[in-house]
Amino acid sequence: MIKRSFIGLAKPRIEYEALDLTVPEPRIFPTSKKVTLLLNQAYEPFGKKNAVLLKKGDTVKTGQKLSLYEGSDVYVISSVTGSISSISPFLGEFGRSYTAIAIDVAEDEEMDEQFKALSVEPTMDIAKEYLSFIPGNPPASLFSSGDTSPSIDTIVICGVDCDLLITANQHALLSDEKAIAKGVGILKHITGIENIIMAAPEHLMQNAGVSGAQVRVVDAEYPATLPRMIMQDILGKTVPAGKTCEEMGVCFVSAEAVAAIGMAFDQGYIPRYKKLNLIKKDGDSVMISARIGTPVHEIFSAYDVTINEKDRIILGGPMTGSSIYSEHHPIQPDTSAIIVQDGRDLALVSDYPCINCGECIRICPAKIPVNMLVRFLEAGKYEEAAEEYDLYSCVECGLCSFVCVSRMPILHYIKLAKYELGRISTAEATNA
Ligand code: SF4
Ligand code: SF4
Repeated sequence: MIKRSFIGLAKPRIEYEALDLTVPEPRIFPTSKKVTLLLNQAYEPFGKKNAVLLKKGDTVKTGQKLSLYEGSDVYVISSVTGSISSISPFLGEFGRSYTAIAIDVAEDEEMDEQFKALSVEPTMDIAKEYLSFIPGNPPASLFSSGDTSPSIDTIVICGVDCDLLITANQHALLSDEKAIAKGVGILKHITGIENIIMAAPEHLMQNAGVSGAQVRVVDAEYPATLPRMIMQDILGKTVPAGKTCEEMGVCFVSAEAVAAIGMAFDQGYIPRYKKLNLIKKDGDSVMISARIGTPVHEIFSAYDVTINEKDRIILGGPMTGSSIYSEHHPIQPDTSAIIVQDGRDLALVSDYPCINCGECIRICPAKIPVNMLVRFLEAGKYEEAAEEYDLYSCVECGLCSFVCVSRMPILHYIKLAKYELGRISTAEATNA
């Protein structure tokens, strides 16, 4: 909900969607005939020294761990039973390389029992080996116990959602109380971390209270639920530019992921359904629960959403989500919303220059001189943007793009710059 100041001098107040406590359970989306799992690793079978472990025609069971190369610790968990119909390269946002594993779904479902046998005694190694690809997408740092990872002493569970119009974490808090409590117990046991905090909206305090974590209320005004804002407002720690929350000893994990960890160890099966909001062109929102890997076009057909030539499909929320260009794109462990915008109503991104109106500076919670930053980003001068104009202080809230009168895609420039600088520093570290 957006409330603008009557006299137009104050910042607009943008409030999160508060989950209606009487909301019914998400509609379970029927299993589609084909799912596609995106492995976070480039497909380069001819350049790799290690043997390729998967091939077309291989049969897989629900819950089976699939790695592409021998010795690789990158994997996906199959959300269905069936046979692999193709393995191919897949380009994600900013040209990130993935491998798409398409599976034709069999009529009869068979559960993989490997995790079940191990789940009786929860350990960090088992969690790391099997629970990275679960609904809610836990961060790698949650399960890393290696010497190279920063030392974490606090876990913050987000019972709030990081963008507007999304309710997946609130729903987990409301309906998966027992699983979350189990997940909190498991996390304490396998990490040894006692300082576990549940960041919850005020109307779900009671539900958050049974989790076994310390409960803190998060403000209802955007962008209060973003990790760096929670660090500042709730933990009283400011994350310096260029540092991560993990480097400050704090790991953020979604309530949905904690519920999935609890369910996995409770039942011996790895959860495979992702909760998400489908927001249609008329603004109508439906909460559904679909298997990871379900192509978005199947969800559109089931809910009578027709996609026309200039319509926009966004994965994620309205402030921070990203457009996708194929209706065959699959639901991922972190897909919390699909927004469909009618091409006729779109506020199109333009190539107008910045007119120095200052709106972006006034609204930026990190107090960045966005008007100057954007000039360097447009020119591809990323290092100068980082050194002189505070690129790394950005909390990626998207408010600057939202208010920009020239409709500049500022957040996307910022994300691209951070991605490119990250690539350069990784390449330099590898060469060194
Ligand atoms: S996305 Fe824009 S408004 Fe938000 S912190 Fe970054 S620069 Fe500031
Ligand atoms: S809101 Fe847009 S046009 Fe205005 S100063 Fe910022 S970047 Fe420039």
